[in-house]
Amino acid sequence: KEKTPLNFLERIIEDDLASGRVPNNTIVTRFPPEPNGYLHIGHIKSICINFGLAEKYQGRCHLRFDDTNPEKEDMEYINSIKRDIKWLGYDWGEYEYHASDYYQQLYEIALELIKQGKAYVDSLTAEQMKEYRGTLKEPGKNSPDRERSIEENLRLFHEMHEGKHPEGKYILRAKIDMSSPNLNLRDPALYRIKFASHPRTGDTWCIYPMYDFTHPISDAIEGVTHSICTLEFEDHRPAYDWATSIDGIEHTPHQYEFARLNINYFVMSKRKLLNLVKLGIVDGWDDPRMPTISGIRRRGYSPESMKDFISRVGVAKVEGVVDFSLLEFCVREDLNKRAQRLMVVLDPLKLVIDNYPEDKVEYFEAVDNPEDPSSETHLIPFSRELYIEREDFMEDPPKKYHRLYPGNEIRLKYAYYVTAHSVVKDDEGTIVEVHCTYDPESRGGSTPDGRKVKGTSHWVSASEGVTIEARLYDKLFLTEYPGKETGNYLDDLNPDSLQIISNAKAEPYIRQAREGDYLQFIRNGYFCVDSKASSEDHLVFNRTVTLKDSWAK
Ligand code: ATP
Ligand code: MG
Ligand code: MG
Repeated sequence: KEKTPLNFLERIIEDDLASGRVPNNTIVTRFPPEPNGYLHIGHIKSICINFGLAEKYQGRCHLRFDDTNPEKEDMEYINSIKRDIKWLGYDWGEYEYHASDYYQQLYEIALELIKQGKAYVDSLTAEQMKEYRGTLKEPGKNSPDRERSIEENLRLFHEMHEGKHPEGKYILRAKIDMSSPNLNLRDPALYRIKFASHPRTGDTWCIYPMYDFTHPISDAIEGVTHSICTLEFEDHRPAYDWATSIDGIEHTPHQYEFARLNINYFVMSKRKLLNLVKLGIVDGWDDPRMPTISGIRRRGYSPESMKDFISRVGVAKVEGVVDFSLLEFCVREDLNKRAQRLMVVLDPLKLVIDNYPEDKVEYFEAVDNPEDPSSETHLIPFSRELYIEREDFMEDPPKKYHRLYPGNEIRLKYAYYVTAHSVVKDDEGTIVEVHCTYDPESRGGSTPDGRKVKGTSHWVSASEGVTIEARLYDKLFLTEYPGKETGNYLDDLNPDSLQIISNAKAEPYIRQAREGDYLQFIRNGYFCVDSKASSEDHLVFNRTVTLKDSWAK
């Protein structure tokens, strides 16, 4: 049996397990979103890695809300994050945590650091801090407050805690080393003053701990063994190790970094995505053009296709950009296997069969999904007046056009052969009706004389069909790296990323479609019910992806 090679994280974990370094032989990972926005496709990678490793090695994965920036955080985000992780099929069970649960413990640790002379209250302004910090080439210099007495530090920190000082006046810093080659070790900030209401702790606190202090200690408190994050945290690792070696912290987690997921034609930063929402450029975080998990869900992507995508991208330590077409490829692969096929005409042109009885309706049986051996069938009504795609008829066709034109015979899928004869035009000369005759002997798609036709068109009965709205999406940005040229990603927005078709015609079986169903409109792409806009009397469908890669250059 062939085994897929282990990725570098799996190798580390297997070594750690084999050497008995892991407490209780149980690995513990965590997925630590900050609830300041909705999750995006990049987060799927982190979710799959953290929950996937826990699953594979029978450990556990914590869901930890990294909620230390009160003014940007919101319960709405917390709830959306939970919904998105569940949609991907992962479950944190009882292991839901919030960094804010540790505020008291963190505060006590900070007090202890001050008492040991390892932290001090600094009154430098933000600009001064930056200047004193130095650069990669130049060592920093000590703040004049670095030598403040322990008593004075304790008094000031208490006052900060009690809300006696305005924001920005003081900051609590670790006393590490202002000449460290690692900038993150040059007396990093531990606490800042912030008079902001927190979604969970309300107004209890007006000082909040910094990420580099909170994150490692949260990991330690929870018994996380492998704290896996993206590469930009690599040079925070020494600060991570400093924090987890503070006296009294018993468990020592370790940080490992992997390359974040980047996809061309997308922006994947919550700040930028929030901006698109705020500016009204998209219809909320779950707009089907958004690379958010709620956006792709509403667009009709399946969780399985996203997991497949992430596993094809792989886990490594080298940054790169993944082509958008791989994402769509994975979606097509999965939907092809599961989508219910339907006949829907997006650009309807009336087709009248002159020799078919006026009031007759007959039914043809169609397989729900020919790719699925266990697939069932459903019935499609056929009548004298139908709709076909406007592009499936030409009055004056070029060579090699095998669809309908005067004198040409084609097959109507599942039904009969028809031959076009004449057209009716409106005042502007636009064709509004095509007249044809059918061959009753061709029922089911072949004739006793065995003659062949080259074209097959899908169709919808005009009297029995249903009018629906179809929303077709194109990429939200026109350039591979939005904003690369001008510095502003909004300059690269695609003005035509949404096309709304309000009078598409669908076979009546479409009424059975429910939110979350995967559909294929034959020849027109994969679609799904729009969870927000669709209702009983106004059916709205989103195109998930076209049938073929239309982006191929
Ligand atoms: P953004 O910069 O997009 O706002 P973030 O990193 O600030 O994202 P967090 O909520 O802090 O968002 O992320 C939670 C976890 O997801 C972190 O461990 C982070 O490293 C990881 N993550 C975020 N973006 C990506 C990405 N593009 N690829 C892989 N992992 C990611
Ligand atoms: Mg973050
Ligand atoms: Mg960020």
